[in-house]
Amino acid sequence: MRIWNLPVVDFISFDELEEERPVALVTTAGAWEAVADDLAHLNVIWRSNITDATIQQWANFTVDLQQLTINNSQLTIYAVGGGQVINAAKYIAYHTGLELVSLPTALTADAFLTWNSGVRAEGCVRYLETKPPERLIMDVDVLAAAPDGIRAAGICDVLSIATSLWDWELAAEKGENPEGMELIPWVADAAQSILDGALECAESAGAGDAEGLKQLLDCLALGVQLCNQVGHSRPKEGSEHHFSYSVENYLSNGLSHANLVGPGIIMMAQFQDQDTDYLERALKACHIPLDNIPEDVVGMTLKGLPEYVRKHDLPYGIAHELNIA
Ligand SMILES: [Zn+2]
Repeated sequence: MRIWNLPVVDFISFDELEEERPVALVTTAGAWEAVADDLAHLNVIWRSNITDATIQQWANFTVDLQQLTINNSQLTIYAVGGGQVINAAKYIAYHTGLELVSLPTALTADAFLTWNSGVRAEGCVRYLETKPPERLIMDVDVLAAAPDGIRAAGICDVLSIATSLWDWELAAEKGENPEGMELIPWVADAAQSILDGALECAESAGAGDAEGLKQLLDCLALGVQLCNQVGHSRPKEGSEHHFSYSVENYLSNGLSHANLVGPGIIMMAQFQDQDTDYLERALKACHIPLDNIPEDVVGMTLKGLPEYVRKHDLPYGIAHELNIA
């Protein structure tokens, strides 16, 4: 058994970052544009622009970068961007054996802190074991300056505790938790407490205040480490995430993780007969739109969700019990 770690986190302005080693840059055009001036001092000798979350693209970049590592033992990967970038970079770093430094340009997800890479495969999202970044650089001014809709969108990966805990408890009642995923009450309590922390900081994180962004990072990190300790993601991933995996199949335009999980949280909480006002307030404070998925697509997704979660063998929750005509 292995218990994974979080990256070391340093709060440094990107333009004050000292780096002597040659850099392999993993980024997107938009993310790089936002911080290129601050990072102009890096010795970038290789660059890849991530455009989708497929293993094919990641593997191609890995092969390409491997050629360079032969003569560059000092080469270090810098991942500059959001969730899509860090997912790809963790894969590339793992398969090339290079050190990984993560420079988020917005707190869009918890992927900066996790040891796996979410990849689209066969109509679902699967998590491949890769590795956490060795180092996470937080430039709070950069995060604060990120566009409203992505700045603190990662709060979705904490607010999802509200619906996933409910699912975990339902599964316990129904005897549907497999060995190794049994409900652990104190872990559920710890998760609840992390959720409370996110609700408390939603407004200030959404506004880009340094304290709020720090607290959101704390919540994301503690949520990830709690799951690392227990060896699964039931405390913070349930039907709301399963909805997001399924709905992607009906959408041609790639909506962000938060744009899919946010509505998923509200809908699943409603099906669970939970109060949703406080969740909606927190999502709104972090500028996460709840109406970006077309209504007919939502309808189709909900209708097919019980079959979908069984087909993909996803952990038991409210999605298994939906009955929508
Ligand atoms: Zn997530």
